[in-house]
Amino acid sequence: MWKSMLQIPKVCKYCGNIFLAKTVKTGYCSHKCAWSANNEKKKRERQQKTLDKIKSEGVKYIIITEALRIFNTSRNTLHRLIHFQKIRNKRISPKRLFVCVQDIESLFPVRPEPLVSPKKETLVFDMTPEKCYTIGEITRRFKVTESSVYKHIRQYSIPIRQVGNYVYAPKVEIDKLYNNKNVRK
Ligand SMILES: [Zn+2]
Repeated sequence: MWKSMLQIPKVCKYCGNIFLAKTVKTGYCSHKCAWSANNEKKKRERQQKTLDKIKSEGVKYIIITEALRIFNTSRNTLHRLIHFQKIRNKRISPKRLFVCVQDIESLFPVRPEPLVSPKKETLVFDMTPEKCYTIGEITRRFKVTESSVYKHIRQYSIPIRQVGNYVYAPKVEIDKLYNNKNVRK
């Protein structure tokens, strides 16, 4: 009986949402997430196998973005040549296309200076406990229910971090959220 009363806030290892777990071991918010995580693991294993096979063939392949960085050509040109089977290639997944280095070398010169890949701008939050509220602190401070907090965190994609049995969310984001009059508590 007491077991079903357990409600441990946890971060789903697949979708990143917070949920209330009934056991300490639960890692996923739903069967769907557990299933998807397992599926992805299998997919990664399959991709790794293909990669290992490519390596063992002794022909050097690199991912297409890397080829574009090194060789003086464009993505469209490479795709056209791939389409006309002028460049050997292996697709590991929809987003990971590997191209044969020797084939590209024979067609294009190396760039005088390799292209610098533009860095994706990501917001970095200070997730140290001092800069965060726990979910409990949020409910008390802003007078919102726990389930609303979870809902808002999901809705506004606020990053969260789990330490032990506590879920932390950055103060800046939470303050911004609840000082905004438009948020329906
Ligand atoms: Zn999930």
